[in-house]
Amino acid sequence: MSLSFLTESLHLVPGLGPRKIEALEAAGVRTIRDLLHYYPRRYLDRSTVTPIGSLTAEGGTVTVVGTVRAAGMVPGRGKMRYEVRLQDDSSGTLKGVWFRGLRWISRLFKPGDRVAFHGKVQQFGRTFSMTHPDFDQLDTDSANLDTGRIIALYPGGAALEKAGLTSRTFRRHVYRLFKEHGLELEDAFPAWLRDEYTLIDGRVALRAVHFPKSQSELGHARERLKFEEFFYLQLLLALTKQTRQKVAGPRLGPPRGEGSFLHRFLHEVLPFTFTGAQTRTLDDILRDVQTGLQMNRLVQGDVGSGKTVVAVAALLHALDYGYQGAFMAPTEILAEQHHANLRKYLEPLGVEVRVLLGGQRKALRTEILEDLATGNAHIAVGTHAVIQEGVAFEALGMAIVDEQHRFGVMQRADLFAKGANPHMLLMTATPIPRSLAMTLYGDLDVSVMDERPAGRKPIKTLLRTEKRRGEVYQFIREQLREGRQTYVVYPLVEESEKLDLKDAENGFEQLTEEFRAYRVDLIHGRMLPYEKEEAMERFKEGETDILVSTTVIEVGVDVPNASVMLIEHAERFGLSQLHQLRGRVGRGEHQSTCILMADYKRSAEGEQRLNAMVATDDGFKISELDLEIRGAGDFFGTRQSGLPDLKIGDLTQDLDILQRARHAAFALLERDPRLTAPEHAALRAYYERYYSKRNLGYARVG
Ligand code: ADP
Ligand code: MG
Repeated sequence: MSLSFLTESLHLVPGLGPRKIEALEAAGVRTIRDLLHYYPRRYLDRSTVTPIGSLTAEGGTVTVVGTVRAAGMVPGRGKMRYEVRLQDDSSGTLKGVWFRGLRWISRLFKPGDRVAFHGKVQQFGRTFSMTHPDFDQLDTDSANLDTGRIIALYPGGAALEKAGLTSRTFRRHVYRLFKEHGLELEDAFPAWLRDEYTLIDGRVALRAVHFPKSQSELGHARERLKFEEFFYLQLLLALTKQTRQKVAGPRLGPPRGEGSFLHRFLHEVLPFTFTGAQTRTLDDILRDVQTGLQMNRLVQGDVGSGKTVVAVAALLHALDYGYQGAFMAPTEILAEQHHANLRKYLEPLGVEVRVLLGGQRKALRTEILEDLATGNAHIAVGTHAVIQEGVAFEALGMAIVDEQHRFGVMQRADLFAKGANPHMLLMTATPIPRSLAMTLYGDLDVSVMDERPAGRKPIKTLLRTEKRRGEVYQFIREQLREGRQTYVVYPLVEESEKLDLKDAENGFEQLTEEFRAYRVDLIHGRMLPYEKEEAMERFKEGETDILVSTTVIEVGVDVPNASVMLIEHAERFGLSQLHQLRGRVGRGEHQSTCILMADYKRSAEGEQRLNAMVATDDGFKISELDLEIRGAGDFFGTRQSGLPDLKIGDLTQDLDILQRARHAAFALLERDPRLTAPEHAALRAYYERYYSKRNLGYARVG
């Protein structure tokens, strides 16, 4: 690509006046490149137009072209609709019908307009109609940009249309841009890359995506452009990884065998043996730490797959070589829990564990910091403040970041940037689809833990409505009688925190009444940290039978005796969140049950989520479904996750192209690690201009 041309402002686009430019800029389209990447949202295939007179009830999806005879609002069963009657030379009539977006649509058509409709034909009586057809306004003088071909429909919006930017005018401007400046664009991809990954020329692709000659050309064009978009992001990750792989880390040796912390932990302390997945993951870690380079490994494991003990094993291995460890959790409750666990496991080994919490007395904190700085303490547990506040260690060798998805990509960058370069082990209990993993964690090494400890019974998941509450309570009573414990969770939506808290409080009162013979407790986000800890502790110790809570218990809490998870208003929770909550039970040898209480009235999406929960408890499958239901942008919330803003690639659908693009990016660095070959000059310039400093902010070439 000719960079200087692409970065030019829109003034160079033939025929684009100040009003349109202003509207485009307001929509984020500021340069020539932005305009070329303002991809059509849909296409209308006018290469074959069907005469309306020849339509049949089984007409399928077709394109028709005609003149608007009438257009207006039509009242119907309590709901307005908008109808456009279209007539063509074949003396047939067809109605376009809209039920949504009426205000917008009703401004677009007037009698006499020439328009094309594209959609599925339906027949009611003797009338043919299309519901919400794709449509396009045609010039009466119909230049050949609009007829007899596949034409592009652009994402619109009131502001653009007000400035005169319809799909038709878009096509005009882009067309003239190509016509007058087409030669100034060149393909940044070297020939070998195009050949090996069977991609068409970038210039051809860009043109074809706006003006496809055929469906097949359009397909190739979209593929090339998606590939390209993924490719540069993967190059960013590949370069990041390459840079990191040069960072020295503590060089540890192989396991020290009998008498070592690691050996005694695995063989004397743990009451069980590792699963295959745990062993594989530990092996990955042990291999990484012997290279002399810093480890950057992500452990992706479903809830209950047993990540914590793997992390403990990793810490102990560092201790065996004279280093200290840090264990970081996203919340103080989890930090407290990990602290308790670690003490239980490690006290018998004589390992000194300290916890750093927000509310600690100054004197205590000073003492802890002193112990860490001198090496009197071996392991620090805390929230991520442990690293961020630059707590000094004598020799930090291994840092664990639990539930890393809560930290966000930028915070991850912070973690890496600070202090010495301890080995980093990131853990996430949010299994994410492969396409997202490749995009979010593409710069890390990944171990997947897709196995649960043996002897676990799968969790039963039931969907219930209010009508059967009595039955649900009866079931809980039976479980309590057998000595089990129950969670009851209420949703907490931030905007109306008070209201939801009320939900939980009411529920708490009601349950206290209902289960008078048992001890019911309440925990919520507004309690002070120590109050939450105490409530958690009571539940853990079995002093409480039913724990009512808002979602504060969502992640990581481990009480093996709890066998029932009752989720109220389950339709209001996200799918991953439901899965996380369900993962709070099924942690011991008891048969566990997750009960989703949901309203009759649910959105279609809510329905999909609940059905997915009942259908499977495989976290990886759940995550794929979640991505499908929500789309990539919402999966984590784009901003927080650092997910790139994709213009044409689609993480839910283009896994295949993404994988090839990732392969290509790594292959490029194999060939030319510093991107200095002349044939890569254009590509490198393009990368540096548009991708290098964005997103993660620390990848540099060479
Ligand atoms: P998560 O991966 O969700 O963080 P945890 O590490 O909290 O899971 O482990 C869940 C429970 O399973 C804990 O009670 C832990 O002691 C137990 N556990 C872990 N590994 C095994 C194993 N190999 N066999 C039996 N129980 C195990
Ligand atoms: Mg955990």
